[in-house]
Amino acid sequence: MGKDCIFCKIISGEIESKKFYEDDLMLCFYDIHPKAPVHVLLVPKKHIVSLAKVEIKDKDLLGHIQLKAGEIAKKLGIAEAFRLLTSSGKKAGQSVAHLHYHLIGGWENNSEEMEANPESL
Ligand code: 5GP
Ligand code: ZN
Repeated sequence: MGKDCIFCKIISGEIESKKFYEDDLMLCFYDIHPKAPVHVLLVPKKHIVSLAKVEIKDKDLLGHIQLKAGEIAKKLGIAEAFRLLTSSGKKAGQSVAHLHYHLIGGWENNSEEMEANPESL
């Protein structure tokens, strides 16, 4: 558990979240400030700071999250068009220092709505 880590607190249940999917390795919950019509976060239960800090032993965990991303997109009804994004480092826009992937989608008119805000995350 990362000290004062907001996502560790969400995983432990200390902070409430609207969960969409959970298993032994990861949690998926709705972003509190959605930047797309559908916006969830995919978070490993293990406290890893970012992709810059992953180790070879995290290989299966990282693969698991990507495999689940497609499955979760299907369950959310956005499998036809979605983005999976992660930022590493404050200068890249990472505001929570616990690895997470934004799964966003649900745009109505092709990608116009998404293209209007390409850097919104
Ligand atoms: P980052 O800016 O690090 O890429 O993404 C962090 C994301 O976490 C942001 O989109 C932000 O809205 C979301 N977030 C921050 N705090 C909370 C929270 O307490 N609950 C939920 N559900 N999302 C949060
Ligand atoms: Zn954490």
